[in-house]
Amino acid sequence: MAKKIAILGGGESGVGTAILAKKEGFKIFLSDKGKIKDKYKDVLKNLEIEWEELQHSEEKILNADVVMKSPGIPETTPLVLKLKDNNIPVISEIEFASEFTSAETIGITGSNGKTTTTKFIHHILKDGKISAGMAGNVGDSFARQVAENEFAWYVLELSSFQLDGIINFRPKIAVLTNITPDHLDRYEHSLEKYIASKFRITLNQTKADYFIYDADDKNISDWLKKNPIEAQKLPFSLEKKFENGAYLENEQIIVKINNTKFYMPTTDLSLQGKHNTKNAMAAATVAQLLRIRKQTIRESMENFQGVEHRLEKVLKINNVMYINDSKATNVNATFYALESMESATVWIVGGVDKGNVYSDLLPLVNEKVKAIICLGVDNAKITNAFGNCVDIMVETQSMDEAVKIAYKIAEKNEAVLLSPACASFDLFENYEDRGRQFKEAVRNL
Ligand code: ADP
Repeated sequence: MAKKIAILGGGESGVGTAILAKKEGFKIFLSDKGKIKDKYKDVLKNLEIEWEELQHSEEKILNADVVMKSPGIPETTPLVLKLKDNNIPVISEIEFASEFTSAETIGITGSNGKTTTTKFIHHILKDGKISAGMAGNVGDSFARQVAENEFAWYVLELSSFQLDGIINFRPKIAVLTNITPDHLDRYEHSLEKYIASKFRITLNQTKADYFIYDADDKNISDWLKKNPIEAQKLPFSLEKKFENGAYLENEQIIVKINNTKFYMPTTDLSLQGKHNTKNAMAAATVAQLLRIRKQTIRESMENFQGVEHRLEKVLKINNVMYINDSKATNVNATFYALESMESATVWIVGGVDKGNVYSDLLPLVNEKVKAIICLGVDNAKITNAFGNCVDIMVETQSMDEAVKIAYKIAEKNEAVLLSPACASFDLFENYEDRGRQFKEAVRNL
């Protein structure tokens, strides 16, 4: 008898799972408590998959052998708890897809830098002529790709929510970029639980696998001291050196793995900022493990163009550079943005506060920021935190106005940086909308 799968959520991961499940002969029921986008409804109709929206028909869902839960649905949702009480496995799309492919995977997780590092690695693999797909939080879901392609490798961006739903998923190479408090509302406000969730990426790894991680990150190194892992560890660091791992020496990135050594001057990297040097170290370590030619890795790292809304240079007007870092939705990402600024900066900041603690930013703001433009509905925390750091502090709720004010304040050889450190949904649809509005306003100057 066909195995029955219920799919909770009709977004990309839900519909991708449905496509793959159909191909593998499952009996499928897809249910979304909200509305399903038309483009996804068309897919479901074409494949003759049973689905519903605006409700969860519990009886049908509880009748399944296995349930795929989309990452957006919290573990504490009553229906999910009920499924668990009934001993029905609740898995993520990553777990489901990995059962149906023999391709090797490279999984990337962390609080910041996942998308950049995932795209960076995929870019180098492509230049190295390795057959590799890219999935997870970026682009098409892993499940859809497994159903439709035959790659030898997959580079997967993995959120902690996706990792919460794995059982057997085992990446050949895991990358943990960093851990700073984020999404704690989904982890009972416990940093320990959030860290444990990130470390699930290495849960099923064996001695034949690799775990690449930021050795400068205290949350990561403290956890590793207490919780030994099976995989071969390959750290990267801006401060320390290793027998095996990636580090800096004479302004070069060195990646040493057993007897092989890769090196590249940091000035040749296309992306600036210390955080991007770390992302490059992680990517170069992966490339080195896959034995891509060193010269190819170097060239690939020289021309990687970065990702939209991440320290993206928009335009230079009157010798003032306008930079879009709308994806900086937390303090840590903004920390690295400010740190990478090489000239006096007009900083556009604000939005929905996620329990931000701003003290780490104070030295950088004192050193680099000449004016602050608060762009949010409630700016009180920001004005309190930085009121003494700058002479000019303005509040507005319009991106257009924010950019026009910045234009008036910024002088030759200075920069205007949108790096909000906050979520966007008080004034914008999402961070992409916020970034696009910024770019539009800059182009209209
Ligand atoms: P994620 O997918 O984890 O959200 P992104 O690559 O989209 O990460 O970057 C999110 C934000 O974090 C951007 O503002 C980016 O400039 C910044 N960032 C990128 N890499 C790192 C890193 N290694 N450490 C800290 N911040 C980073």
